[in-house]
Amino acid sequence: MSNCPFCLGPDLRDISVADVAEEHNAVRRRVLEVFPQSLLLAALGPVVSPYLLFVPRRHIGGIREATATEWEELFLALSICLEKKVFPSGTLTIFEHGVRSDGGCSCVDHCHLHIVDGRFDLNSLIEKALPSPKSFLIGRKGFEVDSPPADYIWAGHYTSESRDIVVKASSAEGRGPQYFRRVLAALAKTDQWDWRVFPRWHAINDLLGRWN
Ligand SMILES: [Zn+2]
Ligand SMILES: [Zn+2]
Repeated sequence: MSNCPFCLGPDLRDISVADVAEEHNAVRRRVLEVFPQSLLLAALGPVVSPYLLFVPRRHIGGIREATATEWEELFLALSICLEKKVFPSGTLTIFEHGVRSDGGCSCVDHCHLHIVDGRFDLNSLIEKALPSPKSFLIGRKGFEVDSPPADYIWAGHYTSESRDIVVKASSAEGRGPQYFRRVLAALAKTDQWDWRVFPRWHAINDLLGRWN
């Protein structure tokens, strides 16, 4: 996709000057790990720290469409996240927001999973506060048995001992844009949840410095 920041970002060697000018989200400056079919990035607007994104290189709408290799690379990325010892609790919360039913995309429409520290217990939030929560499991080959519908938001918990990602999901209907980011901002006692307005480059650079 010619105007997708994730499609533009990973490799700019073959694109025109005009395309480079569109590299508005500075993806290249945020790359932490490069895998054959995916990338691990420092997220724009790290409302809590650290805050990473796992992004398959293919322009797909959601992680439900991932290939076996992309799922493998996700688990590799998660284990690297824990090995780097930058997540205080040593556990991870992973989340993905669905497509809103009004057709509006709450973010970039290229699949990306958000990764924050496991102490932000979004599973419990979904279980206790959102309508009709459903449980799912992500194993090494992807969602087991069933996956959340495309218009759902979900969060998962991962530890180095667990072989799977334990997932809770609920409808995105009525949640509004960047819902989990607004929850994280409330927990972090800030109102700067919108990455478009508050990219927080100081925190991104801090993570890039600590990663190596
Ligand atoms: Zn894309
Ligand atoms: Zn997003």
